[in-house]
Amino acid sequence: MMAATHRLGGLAAGVAMAGLLQADLYETGIVVAGAILGSLLPDIDNPHSSISRRWQLTSFFITLGQGIIRLFSKLLPRKQTGYINSMIGHRGITHSFMAVCLLPVPVILLGRASGYLNAGIYGAVGIAAGILSHILFDMLAGGAPLFMPFTTKRIVIAKIKTGGLLEWIFRGFLIVIFLYFGMEGIAWQELLQV
Ligand SMILES: [Zn+2]
Repeated sequence: MMAATHRLGGLAAGVAMAGLLQADLYETGIVVAGAILGSLLPDIDNPHSSISRRWQLTSFFITLGQGIIRLFSKLLPRKQTGYINSMIGHRGITHSFMAVCLLPVPVILLGRASGYLNAGIYGAVGIAAGILSHILFDMLAGGAPLFMPFTTKRIVIAKIKTGGLLEWIFRGFLIVIFLYFGMEGIAWQELLQV
């Protein structure tokens, strides 16, 4: 799917999550920002993705790391080399439940270290929701290795073509979810009370 669809998914997931948590406006802002970031984060494994082009330095080190690991993996038997390459390649470990659990952790630690633990937790929950939405969308568009590192098998729900008509229909559906939770879930009345 296109980055814009992932971003829209992150927005919808963030607003839905904030609604579920009954977050106030400040917390909602953090959850939604985290979810939008999380919805793009898994594709940091691909140097041509939207997030890699924005975070060029991070992307450079990741590509460098992938190259080094690939080089050393050649020393291993062929089966292990293939396994490692699919872990670190595009739609690899960053597209798994493991990533949903681990990638948000630094945000909690950062929040704790800076004395904003609450904000860190909301940010981490948002990032987890965003990553989950990204993985779900990739499962709708060819598959994602949900259970990596235990298996490299990609779980496929559908094969929606990137940029095709179905993706546009899907975007419309996301906008409906966003509007529904945006109106139902967010504590807009807080704004009016100020
Ligand atoms: Zn992806």
